Amino acid sequence: AKRAGRGGVQFYRHALQDEAHARLQIEDGLRQAAERDELDLHYQPQFDAAERLIGAEALLRWQHPEMGQVPPDLFIPVAEETGLIHGVGNWVLEHALMQLSQWQAGNLQPPRLALNLSPWQLARPDFVDQFQARLRRHGVDGHALTLEVTESGLLRDLPDAITKLGALRRLGMRIALDDFGTGYSSLAYLRDLPVDELKIDKSFVKELLAGGDRTLIENIVDIARNMELDVIAEGVEHPEQREQLLALGCTRFQGFLFSAPLTHEQFVARLHRP
Ligand code: C2E
Ligand code: CA
Ligand code: CA
Ligand code: CA
Repeated sequence: AKRAGRGGVQFYRHALQDEAHARLQIEDGLRQAAERDELDLHYQPQFDAAERLIGAEALLRWQHPEMGQVPPDLFIPVAEETGLIHGVGNWVLEHALMQLSQWQAGNLQPPRLALNLSPWQLARPDFVDQFQARLRRHGVDGHALTLEVTESGLLRDLPDAITKLGALRRLGMRIALDDFGTGYSSLAYLRDLPVDELKIDKSFVKELLAGGDRTLIENIVDIARNMELDVIAEGVEHPEQREQLLALGCTRFQGFLFSAPLTHEQFVARLHRP
């Protein structure tokens, strides 16, 4: 929006002010979002090559009274910069575990539920102890969960991340590297990380259309095979992407082709289906 001339600069300054205002509005709103009952989790199913349900990713939703649905890509960074991520992250953990125990009580056999974890949450010294206490309180087994972490987030303090992810894994949880390939991937540290699954970012899956670059996905699948890790692709929208991924050796999928993120009610209905 930056253009030459006074009008252009003026316009630019207004855009910046709007942006600053929006951030403040997000920060303010986020502070009270949980107590005002504006947060919700949606669940996006994950499938294997035979289209069997193998898991689901919990995705946070925020309905602001004036702004409407605020995309997590917009408010999570603000939450991380302001420290509000701890409250928001705890709400996600609590709500997900409450939901899991409720599903179990209703005799639903939910597949593994994947939760997105901010590096700031993991960095807390008492994170693992708190998590273990939380699991016990809700009567949920660690095997019911996958934790999704981004590689770039772990690099801040790699030894600390290795210790904590190892401890979480011993509680039964699977660890997935989210947005894999988008950051500063290094095989050297990947070998040391307690990881079970690589998640191919949707930007690479997009490339599979219109004869885009396939080498990155080929490399990721190779790495996964060599290190005996599972690999799942996100953002699969077209049958053509599914076919190409299968041909490349990726047999786990998440994306609109299979299912959009579902509300709790929709997801439960899906769980009831054979
Ligand atoms: P992500 O972890 O990479 O999640 C995948 C995103 O792709 C989700 O966006 C999902 O709705 C979207 N998606 C699913 N299928 C498709 C598809 O076929 N095509 C396309 N183009 N997109 C698809 P969403 O829900 O807007 O979340 C955005 C990001 O916000 C997530 O990216 C994650 O980084 C973050 N996030 C969401 N929930 C949480 C949370 O509970 N905690 C934390 N720390 N971050 C979260
Ligand atoms: Ca994720
Ligand atoms: Ca992603
Ligand atoms: Ca992400």
